[in-house]
Amino acid sequence: DGLGGIIDGKAIAAEIRAEIRNDVSSLSSVIPGLATVLVGERKDSATYVRMKIKACSECGMESIHRALPADATEGDIIAVVRALNEDACVHGILVQLPLPDGINEENVLSEISIEKDVDGFHPLNIGKLAMRGREPLFAPCTPRGCIELLKRSGVEISGKEAVVVGRSNIVGLPVSLLLMHENATVTITHSRTVDLASVVRRADIVVAAVGRTEMVKADWLKPGCVVIDVGMNSKPDSTRKSGYRLVGDVDFEGCRKKASLVTPVPGGVGPMTIAMLLRNCADAAMKCEKSAAQ
Ligand code: NDP
Repeated sequence: DGLGGIIDGKAIAAEIRAEIRNDVSSLSSVIPGLATVLVGERKDSATYVRMKIKACSECGMESIHRALPADATEGDIIAVVRALNEDACVHGILVQLPLPDGINEENVLSEISIEKDVDGFHPLNIGKLAMRGREPLFAPCTPRGCIELLKRSGVEISGKEAVVVGRSNIVGLPVSLLLMHENATVTITHSRTVDLASVVRRADIVVAAVGRTEMVKADWLKPGCVVIDVGMNSKPDSTRKSGYRLVGDVDFEGCRKKASLVTPVPGGVGPMTIAMLLRNCADAAMKCEKSAAQ
């Protein structure tokens, strides 16, 4: 009918959580523990942390929460991270970003022991991700979620043209590196790219991580391509009580008519981020049990 299929991120994330629950229950000497560090009073950050803690307990994992006031110093935050590095009950440490103004995020993230860097943002983990023949201990969650969506939807990545829109440290860059690891031919685009539409038109796989409401249009797409929409933007919508609704970086209704598969927003990449965080943390605990047994 010309309408593309939809990649159901909610269902795929639920499948992954079930696998994690299963893995966690088969551990005999270790309960995976995720530490969350929240600095300040940002409501959205507090919500994300709450969601992560809830997801942890649903998978049979422990969570350890550390809250610091908005005026905490870099030293205060680093002291908390160092204590968590030493805590044997903690297998993963997540420092919720963004940190308050004036705090150098890289200084804080670099303090997380790379064995516990379940967000995958430690410069060493990103560096290993960029190098051939090196395996990062953890890949960042949202990018890893994009790859899982492709794989579990039966999309062939090897040899395909992938175009990533956006080059942020959190999404665009690491998803590009992961696609390259899967042997795609990858093009990274950004705000200085000339004639973005014609670059995107080359792609068998498009990953949009721009942060611009419905920017990617149907006529930018090669017919039959696969589109992964990472964007989370609020769009004014007077029919909603809140006055807005969540939309992606892709014009979903238009692109559905051109692509073979598209992720919706919400219900696409979003649910995968927490699932991959739990996966990374469970993997860390499983590694721990294995090495204790040796
Ligand atoms: P950033 O703002 O850090 O990066 C945006 C990137 O898009 C930059 O590389 C920028 O280019 C590029 N860009 C901006 N405008 C244009 C344009 N007009 N044309 C081409 N490229 C452009 O965003 P993030 O990567 O952190 O996030 C991207 C989106 O993903 C956001 O909507 C965010 O909310 C969402 N997100 C969703 C997550 C999830 O779990 N689903 C997790 C994380 C993010 P340049 O580098 O040149 O400035």
